[in-house]
Amino acid sequence: MNNMLTLALSKGRIFDETMPLLKAAGIEVLEDPEKSRKLILPTNHANVRVVLVRASDVPTYVQYGGADLGVTGLDTLIEHGTDGLYQPLDLQIAKCRMSVAVRSDFDYAAMVKQGARLKVATKYTTIARDFFATKGVHVDLVKLYGSMELAPLTGLADAIVDLVSTGNTLKANHLVEVERIMDISSRLVVNQAALKMKQADIRRIIDAFSAALPAAK
Ligand code: AMP
Repeated sequence: MNNMLTLALSKGRIFDETMPLLKAAGIEVLEDPEKSRKLILPTNHANVRVVLVRASDVPTYVQYGGADLGVTGLDTLIEHGTDGLYQPLDLQIAKCRMSVAVRSDFDYAAMVKQGARLKVATKYTTIARDFFATKGVHVDLVKLYGSMELAPLTGLADAIVDLVSTGNTLKANHLVEVERIMDISSRLVVNQAALKMKQADIRRIIDAFSAALPAAK
């Protein structure tokens, strides 16, 4: 058990896009998370397993050693904080951007210029707070857990801070992107104590992932 290596992943895009990287490291997950109800998935290596956790819980599992490594979006990582986490690789998967969006009839530029106080709804309060503080814009943040697009449409907020990929969700809700805060992609995170104690095994995975990234090809 002591030499068991545990990788925390969330179902969906991160799981799917991590599989080719694991394969490059010679690791194959033996069960399909969409078909199985299991939360601990075995691999073809007896000492490597995958645990399925909520996307926002991946940094927590890795920080406290419930998993040795994990894959998490930069957005989730910033919101959680990076204490106890070593971040060796940008995996360049699940790419999107963090943006500010408003209703198409809301004159964001004029409001910012006037120094108006903006009501901003978001799940990403740390990123939003830092961004508007750096910009010198006063904001009242409204924390939401989903369907951020609804907030400007119902008068709950003037603007939202959310992830944008194709822009189709914004368009369907008559919202426009007015600021691009940062590019987002998924990161490999490693528990700092595990990195010391299981160095050879973890290094092997980091090196195989790194060699399989687009930039390395
Ligand atoms: P889109 O319509 O393609 O711009 O996608 C936007 C919606 O998908 C938003 O509700 C986002 O929260 C979500 N989304 C897009 N890309 C990602 C990603 N890489 N990770 C998590 N959620 C995402």
